Amino acid sequence: MASAVSADEREQAGSGAWRSGPRTTVRRKAERGRYDRATIEAILDEAFICHLGFCTDGGPVVVPTAYARVGEVLYLHGAPANQALRTVGEGAPVTLAVTLVDGLVLARAGFHHSINYRSVVVYGHAHEVDDEAEKRRALDAVVEHIVPGRTADARGATDSELRATRVVRVTVDEVSAKVRSGGPVDDPEDVEAGGIWAGHIPLSVTAGPPVPDEEDRQALPVPEYASHYRRPGRP
Ligand SMILES: Cc1cc2nc3c(=O)[nH]c(=O)nc-3n(C[C@H](O)[C@H](O)[C@H](O)COP(=O)(O)OP(=O)(O)OC[C@H]3O[C@@H](n4cnc5c(N)ncnc54)[C@H](O)[C@@H]3O)c2cc1C
Repeated sequence: MASAVSADEREQAGSGAWRSGPRTTVRRKAERGRYDRATIEAILDEAFICHLGFCTDGGPVVVPTAYARVGEVLYLHGAPANQALRTVGEGAPVTLAVTLVDGLVLARAGFHHSINYRSVVVYGHAHEVDDEAEKRRALDAVVEHIVPGRTADARGATDSELRATRVVRVTVDEVSAKVRSGGPVDDPEDVEAGGIWAGHIPLSVTAGPPVPDEEDRQALPVPEYASHYRRPGRP
């Protein structure tokens, strides 16, 4: 049976806004639950897509969207007409799920097949950002989160581009991570019987060679952050 997050684990998670509690205590496969700050931030920093869940009068909605982490705040952005951001921007409760897929686990029994992953679930509240300086910082943060180093080169937002972008700040109420790694966990009789290959297939996001824009008549050199693109924390 799963136990609630212990006081020690909460202590380890730090005294800031990354709080875990009964709502974020992993019950199913409780041993895979992680609540420490380092694990949570590493997953949030390596990934850049989240699934944003929120309630509407028509029922629950989940949409995939990019995000950036700045300290203990997550920023989302989109067009002013973006239904999700418009709906949640008034202080609505939101849930964000962030997923990194690390591999496929092929067990001897179909029942025991699995996926290796690192994931984070955030429960928080969303507020639209009106302050211009914060909005600019948030937009830069999104670019920088996805392509570290890019804001040094890319042109910043004009006033009209800023007006044409809705930015939402998600403050985190509770957060949890869950991690599965390693090979299959088969029934001993299937292992004993043999005859079926089992193991796991690692998967990772890798960048291909950058393709220069056809409009680049200057044939500019490819910047280092593009030619050697990799996600933070990856070799
Ligand atoms: C890529 C991927 C594929 C998966 N495929 C399956 C599948 O096919 N079938 C299946 O049953 N499960 C799958 N899972 C696990 C799934 O996310 C749930 O953890 C699991 O289904 C248990 O759900 P529950 O509602 O009983 O969780 P509970 O343990 O009751 O959840 C309690 C709390 O724990 C936290 N929590 C739960 N799951 C996660 C998580 N994954 N990451 C971070 N925090 C979490 C949340 O705060 C949640 O509110 C998958 C996970 C990932 C990342």
